[in-house]
Amino acid sequence: MSDGTTPTASTGGRVLLASNNAKKLAELRRIVEPLVPGLTVLGLGDVPAYPEPVEDEPSFAGNALLKARAAVAATGLPSLADDSGLCIDALNGMPGVLSARWSGVMGAGKDRANNDLVLHQLADVPDVRRTARFVCAVALCLPDGTEIVEHGEMAGRVLHAEDGEGGFGYDPLFAATGYDVSTARLDPAEKDRISHRGHALAAIAPRVAEALA
Ligand code: IMP
Repeated sequence: MSDGTTPTASTGGRVLLASNNAKKLAELRRIVEPLVPGLTVLGLGDVPAYPEPVEDEPSFAGNALLKARAAVAATGLPSLADDSGLCIDALNGMPGVLSARWSGVMGAGKDRANNDLVLHQLADVPDVRRTARFVCAVALCLPDGTEIVEHGEMAGRVLHAEDGEGGFGYDPLFAATGYDVSTARLDPAEKDRISHRGHALAAIAPRVAEALA
């Protein structure tokens, strides 16, 4: 076939990343491609559309596996998917797997609405109890049925107001441990070095390399 997605004995060093989030896709490409020489990371825009699963699992790993399984089943390509979120201690670990839809607002304005809600919920919480961590699970699903999951975390605290305009999601509200500024102010390479996604991808990269060897 000539659609570029049908697996052969060798996939030509291609892995599909099952994500529609352009900033996340760029971040994931930036991290994984240098770690696995010759690798091409395809996004969902590079393959024929398929029904994407509802992310209704209670864990990051469960949701990452749902997405990677659906991707390999639909395309036959080795497939990576991540699920991530912000776990705030004063909110008993929430928003957690609900991070993307915490405020109920979807589409444009979602990040601002989520951040406003978190600031409101933590309005009376003092610095010492504003601890939080970003968590990321990355799943790799192979055409032979192999499934691998790795996790990464970035600890820090929730600020009292948005700081900076870079990054995405909760970045303007979150300062990593040892930093005075939010992760929205870090240059991308610095964020990759310390981030939950950076750690999870660094852990899974050798497995991707093995799988494609
Ligand atoms: P996912 O696309 O289902 O993994 O949703 C993850 C959600 O968690 C995003 O929509 C963001 O709200 C939040 N999130 C995950 N990683 C980050 C990050 O690195 N910075 C800021 N927000 C993040």
